[in-house]
Amino acid sequence: MAEYNFMKSGANLVKPNRPSKIDIEEELKLIVVVFMDNALQTAGKYVKHCKRNSITSEDLRRSFMLEIFFRRIRKDNNVKRDKMREIVKDITDEERENEEVVDVELEEEDEDAFCESSCDCPLCVSMNNIYEKWEKFKPENVLERILSKHISNIK
Ligand SMILES: [Zn+2]
Repeated sequence: MAEYNFMKSGANLVKPNRPSKIDIEEELKLIVVVFMDNALQTAGKYVKHCKRNSITSEDLRRSFMLEIFFRRIRKDNNVKRDKMREIVKDITDEERENEEVVDVELEEEDEDAFCESSCDCPLCVSMNNIYEKWEKFKPENVLERILSKHISNIK
């Protein structure tokens, strides 16, 4: 019954040379990594301006929202993505070399609870008022739709 082998899932139906899907996935991953990196930096700065000791999920939610708007106007998204591609490659290579899993214990008890910043710098004002802007947010592309869906899932 070898002539029916083509019916087996995955048997030669996928052309061996289809790098496009992988490339798109890799690009998407990089975009998300850059997005997260930018958002985390914003959250980190905001927390400092709030004089709090840790980033809460509320900080993250707000910085993710803000980052979506920033992304639209930022000119260096591609530059940063290319840099990140190198960094991610380095990290992945390193991880392959020493595959040791380190458990990170989160100390939850001493974390400051979320509160808005009383500072009036542009960053803090934007973070404080992000919900007003977010109410009017409409995704302009697939990526924004995916990101906004994840943002609304942050607990
Ligand atoms: Zn500030």
